[in-house]
Amino acid sequence: MSSASPNEHGPVYVGLGANLGDPERTLVAAVEDLSRLPDVELRRSSSLYAAAPLGPSQPEFRNAVVALAVARSPESLLAALLDIERAHGRVRTERWGPRLLDLDILLWGERVVDQPGLHVPHPELHRRRFALEPLAELDPQAHHPVLQKTVAELLAGVRDQPVQRLDSVLWRPR
Ligand code: ADP
Ligand code: MG
Repeated sequence: MSSASPNEHGPVYVGLGANLGDPERTLVAAVEDLSRLPDVELRRSSSLYAAAPLGPSQPEFRNAVVALAVARSPESLLAALLDIERAHGRVRTERWGPRLLDLDILLWGERVVDQPGLHVPHPELHRRRFALEPLAELDPQAHHPVLQKTVAELLAGVRDQPVQRLDSVLWRPR
C-alpha cells in the first residue's frame, strides 16, 4: 500500500450510480460507507443527477460525484469500492446493464494508473455526461491528465446526453 499523503496527487473523484431499487437511498448509504473507510476523508459531494440509461432499456439512473482525500493506494481504494458495491447487492450481469450500485474512480489528481482491472482516469469518463456533469459542479477546472483537457472542455463533447441536476444534495460536511 502506498503511503501517499492525502493531497499529494490532488483530490480523488469517485462517481456513484444506481438505477434499481431505491437509487437515492442506495447512494446516500454508499456515501456513508465511503465516509467510514480508513484513510479516506470525504470532502465534498455534488448534487444528485438523473440520467437516461445508455445501455439496454432499463430504469433511469441517479448519479453523483464525491471528492475524497485518500491516503491509500488506488488498488486498495478500488478494492474497498468493490466491497461496498457488493455490500449493496450489486449483481454483475450484462455490461451497462441495470445495477444497484456502481462506484468508479474517475480522477486521482494528475495521477495515471494503467493496470489490469484498474485504469485512472476512468476510461469512460470523457464519454459520460452523467459523470462529467456532477464532476464539473465540484470543479470545472479539474484536469484530465491523459486527454489534457479540463472537465468543462470534456463536457462540451457530451451535451447531447440527457442529464438533469436534481434539487437534492447527497451529503453535507458536518
Ligand atoms: P463501468 O463502471 O465502466 O460501467 P463496471 O462497473 O461494470 O463498468 O466495471 C467494473 C470493473 O472495472 C471493475 O471490476 C474494475 O476492476 C474495473 N475498473 C477499471 N478501472 C476502474 C476505475 N477507475 N474505477 C472503477 N472500476 C474500474
Ligand atoms: Mg464501475
